[in-house]
Amino acid sequence: MTEQINAFKMAQAQFDHVAEILNLDPQAAEMLRWPSREFRFQIPVKMDDGSIRVFFGYRVQHSDVRGPSKGGIRFHSSETLDTVRALAMWMTWKTAVADIPLGGGKGGVAVDSATLSINEQERLCRGWIQQIYRNIGPRQDVPAPDVGTNPRMMGWMMDEYSKLVGQFTPGVITGKPIGGGGSLGRTEATGFGVVYTIREALKYLNMDPQNAIAAVQGFGNVAQYAAIGLNEMGGQVACVSYWDRDDQKPYTVSSKDGIDPLFLQSITDVYGTIDKDKARDSGYVIEDEQAWITKEADILIPSALEGQVNAETVQNISSRVKVVAEGANGPTTPEADEFFKNRNVFNIPDFLCNAGGVTVSYFEGVQNDMNFYWSRDEVLNKLDDKMTKAFHDVLEMSQRESVYMRDAAYMVAIEKVVKAMELRGWL
Ligand code: NAD
Repeated sequence: MTEQINAFKMAQAQFDHVAEILNLDPQAAEMLRWPSREFRFQIPVKMDDGSIRVFFGYRVQHSDVRGPSKGGIRFHSSETLDTVRALAMWMTWKTAVADIPLGGGKGGVAVDSATLSINEQERLCRGWIQQIYRNIGPRQDVPAPDVGTNPRMMGWMMDEYSKLVGQFTPGVITGKPIGGGGSLGRTEATGFGVVYTIREALKYLNMDPQNAIAAVQGFGNVAQYAAIGLNEMGGQVACVSYWDRDDQKPYTVSSKDGIDPLFLQSITDVYGTIDKDKARDSGYVIEDEQAWITKEADILIPSALEGQVNAETVQNISSRVKVVAEGANGPTTPEADEFFKNRNVFNIPDFLCNAGGVTVSYFEGVQNDMNFYWSRDEVLNKLDDKMTKAFHDVLEMSQRESVYMRDAAYMVAIEKVVKAMELRGWL
């Protein structure tokens, strides 16, 4: 995210705006515009060459009023306390909109995982748990993967926690590998959830999914399965994009007849980096910088990082764009929101659009508690029901109150969270 955009200030501004519309009780507003608890800690890691490197780790618990805090762990070089705070706050709204009995939290480490060996990654993951295990747990706060982390890392973290507390505790973390307490359908859950909300939006806008063209930013976990799901729905994906580590800049990978997400997935590494030479050899066009946002497309799916659709980049979108489906957390700045409102572009806000991941994480926790596991179809059908209901709850609020979809999603979420605060006697 660019330096001038502070994600936490943006999250607070979005919240303040809706708190005012709702005429929210000032005590409730004060409690909710800040996290309940935040932890910042050192993680000294022995590197493969024998040296010690100190990393900084974070865990922020924004709210546990509706259930244990829930949210991913991000390993990214630009991670700060403020990005983690913003992401933790958005998790509170996400679990409320998805109507799952959990709160909001987020964690992270300022590191580019790709620069570490597998053994160093394992020591960093175990070190993160050693610093925070007293303050997380299946009934306190349940982490999961996010940018730069993956199921294998969740397996190490679950193992470290189980050893420290002396009990096999799969429910301490979600997004674990299959066979290690993970749920079928979790890998594809966020991307498929994005597609379920797009399907509902297209129905509402009377647009034919068969003719829909999408432009996607990113090609990591969320973007890959959003692209695969869109193709399965009959739509076409004009392009995807990714951050190239060697050249330290983003590229857009496109094809005039639409990309083949399964092929591109086969030449993409675990960090979402596409092998651009192999893509070019197979007839794909590789463009510099932010080309993805300029494509002639009906749907934009930003699925990389915060602040990517901003006052500057939004000027370049095609007049064809009708829907923005926010696969990423916080991809659209308030200035870009104003632009979309003026252009009548339909917004599927982040904490509704990408709630599929946390929903299946919740299903994973339920399966861990039962020690009984569901089939992939069962998981994805339950996910579709939850996402479809959440979409229509927000749409209905947006129509009833004549407000932008993002404001409507905030209204649905804040009302549920405040109601839980009242029921617990906090207000
Ligand atoms: P990931 O690490 O798997 O992938 C990130 C992708 O974005 C990579 O392909 C990377 O190359 C690309 N990228 C980074 N900077 C870029 C730039 N400037 N331009 C173009 N591409 C760029 O991460 P992910 O899990 O797919 O998460 C993506 C977003 O979705 C994040 O905002 C995350 O918080 C959010 N999210 C993830 C999940 C989940 O279950 N993984 C759930 C909800 C929300």
